[in-house]
Amino acid sequence: MDLDFSYYMPTRILFGCGKLGELATTEYLPGKKALVVIGASGAMRKHGYLDKALSHLRENGAEAVVYDKIQPNPVSDHVEQGAALAKENNCDFVIGLGGGSTIDSAKSIAVMAVNPGEYWDYMQGGSGGRKTPPNGALPIVAITTTAGTGTEADPWTVITKTETNEKIGWGNNWTFPTLSIVDPELMVSVPPKTTAYTGMDAFFHSAESYLATVSQPTSDHLALEAISLITKYLPVAVKDGRNMEARTKLAWANTEAGICESLSCCISHHSMEHALSAYYPDVAHGCGLAMLSVSYFSHLGERHPARFPDLARAMGQDVDGLPEKEGPAAFIAGLKQLLKNVGLDKDRLANFGVKQEKLKALAENSFYTMGKLYELTPVKLMLEDVVTIYENAYA
Ligand SMILES: [Zn+2]
Repeated sequence: MDLDFSYYMPTRILFGCGKLGELATTEYLPGKKALVVIGASGAMRKHGYLDKALSHLRENGAEAVVYDKIQPNPVSDHVEQGAALAKENNCDFVIGLGGGSTIDSAKSIAVMAVNPGEYWDYMQGGSGGRKTPPNGALPIVAITTTAGTGTEADPWTVITKTETNEKIGWGNNWTFPTLSIVDPELMVSVPPKTTAYTGMDAFFHSAESYLATVSQPTSDHLALEAISLITKYLPVAVKDGRNMEARTKLAWANTEAGICESLSCCISHHSMEHALSAYYPDVAHGCGLAMLSVSYFSHLGERHPARFPDLARAMGQDVDGLPEKEGPAAFIAGLKQLLKNVGLDKDRLANFGVKQEKLKALAENSFYTMGKLYELTPVKLMLEDVVTIYENAYA
């Protein structure tokens, strides 16, 4: 491999059990008045995380205003509402407290709190205006309560425009959190199914970053470690959510996977999933990825087996002495076993109300909205390849 890359990872990460408490004392709080963004489900209030965060902020001399409308698969309307609230209250930083949807929304709100126009003006794919926000963003603090998207360690924010079924990931140097708190104790409340979905999301961030044409030495190391940790500990955490060793290892694997997304990138498996959950918002992101994964990676591995033996080895598969072309099959065997171990091996697109005649539209949408990731995929996929991958995941 030629060594030729750009390394940029500007987020300060406070990692460990009990780290939420450091919100009260940290010298790295980037402002005096926070917009605290949480989900609409009420979980942050129910588990007491919001009260704790607000009281820690007060102790640290910061005021806070709460915006609590964010839903799974967050939408651009809420970004604009949140930004208006931040402006009205003169907030000088934004905190996302919750899972990936909440933190992504916080990032996008931080952009729109200081920039003119509509959020979609700045989207770089689909019907987006492809503008560059002239004024950067308010500083962002991410406090993650799931081990899923890795958003606490990357610049990406994924928002859906409901009217046009577009779900687009986007980010720039301003949308890296300046401070992230990763406290595995906040993750014990995540139910088994969500634990499985979010853990598999982190798994695919790692595997895709490893296969991407823009992988680099640091992302490679982190990706392989994250894959090993998730293979070992995700089934444990799905069975016993209170197992702190498993929760801690998964929290770290997820943060590693986020760093991988910053230094390398996801590939078109993610484009395909975004199209799926843009049309079918009841499909959770990790669920959609899991459903497409065996079909997607089988297709890729058949045409481009390079690096698959490393992925298989990281999953504990014995590939020593096997020719490279056997690597994909070993990885797929490991992947199927992992999906079974976390209870996701039976899901098919057909079970989620996906219409078979829609598959071509999904394939087209994936190129239209997230076409960039196809350019980073080690195999050139055509529209008909993508339709075939969806079809093989259908029933
Ligand atoms: Zn993802």
